[in-house]
Amino acid sequence: MSATAAPSSPHVMNTYGRLPIALSHGQGCRVWDTEGRAYLDGLGGIAVNTLGHNHPELVPALQDQISKLIHSSNYYHVPGQEQLAAKLTELSGLTNAFFCCTGLEANEAALKLARKFGHDKGIERPEIVVYEAAFHGRSIATLSATGNPKVQQGFGPLVEGFIRVPLNDFDALKKATEGNPNVVAVFFETIQGEGGINPMRWEYLRQVRQLCDERDWLMMIDEVQCGMGRTGKWFAHQWAGIKPDVMPLAKGLGSGVPIGAVVAGPRAAHIFGPGNHGTTFGGNPLAMRAGIETIRIMEEQKLLENAATVGSHLKAALEREFAGLPGVKEIRGQGLMLGIELDRPCGVILNRACDAGLLLSVTADSVIRLVPPLILSMAEADEIVAILAPLVKAFLAEPQP
Ligand SMILES: *Cc1c(COP(=O)(O)O)cnc(C)c1O
Repeated sequence: MSATAAPSSPHVMNTYGRLPIALSHGQGCRVWDTEGRAYLDGLGGIAVNTLGHNHPELVPALQDQISKLIHSSNYYHVPGQEQLAAKLTELSGLTNAFFCCTGLEANEAALKLARKFGHDKGIERPEIVVYEAAFHGRSIATLSATGNPKVQQGFGPLVEGFIRVPLNDFDALKKATEGNPNVVAVFFETIQGEGGINPMRWEYLRQVRQLCDERDWLMMIDEVQCGMGRTGKWFAHQWAGIKPDVMPLAKGLGSGVPIGAVVAGPRAAHIFGPGNHGTTFGGNPLAMRAGIETIRIMEEQKLLENAATVGSHLKAALEREFAGLPGVKEIRGQGLMLGIELDRPCGVILNRACDAGLLLSVTADSVIRLVPPLILSMAEADEIVAILAPLVKAFLAEPQP
């Protein structure tokens, strides 16, 4: 196996180096491929399958919804939108939500909100602060906000109006924006996902919140990956006791059904009016039902607590396994969003783990990422460690090229 396997089909565009397996079905945190091999799911479809696979309460609810109405239109009221918006605002302490289908769309909406926020107060060339190593999506605007030259390569000219700063450096943020009247927003992930599981420090978040208040900037937090209970709170920034003005969500919100949302507080909730923004598929009854049921089941089955306790158990077990092992630089993250940074590129771990029956990912070249379903049990966490630890140790013992 190789991480950059040949294209599997002459007709599917070759946008991913795919592993040479195809999944056929799943149950809980377990999935099976078309050859009948079982895998423990440490990836959850990239932090998407919150409730694992074939959840006994989610599936009948979705079947019920499909038999009633899959899609209507934003020309009409959609009761599911009203219900899910009420729930998301209750959980976040914000006030209004807009629904779309993906993470990048939620982020596009946030960027448009920030620009119109600026225009509404007479700023004709609004600028938005973004971060090194950030990932916000693959559209032209979200790609421009992303801090990874590799994914931007070949797609210029990029969108202008972004100021880039390093993580967790408050002085650098102040310096980069000093005397600039065009700044309208600061935009970041509480814990960077694709960038390598890089958390913002809580103290830094509080400093940025205060600066946004002083300067009348929007604080926009991309919780597409770290949100929806993954860290043990509904939204990862809640650990710092702060509230953003704008919060894009997606990935885990629908347990696998495509859904995105941008949730806004009082300063941003009324920037858009009719005609300013829209979507054909966003907020459809099927996706809304998936979001509503996902949150209901998470509350009923106490999955925030599960993410926190199983996550800290998993992190502690990884720390024990890798303590003092040269080559393991750091184990980072919170709840069920964990990264193991090695001192060298380790893409091959992905293939070897897959061979050994464990799905995970490697991000930022050298960080092994675990973002399993939030229903993961203690025993399954132990099983992840039992499969992964020997692989990593063997890998690190190999001579470096
Ligand atoms: C995955 C991700 C996105 C993009 O979401 P898509 O649904 O792939 O468009 C944006 N921001 C963050 C933090 C992500 O992890």
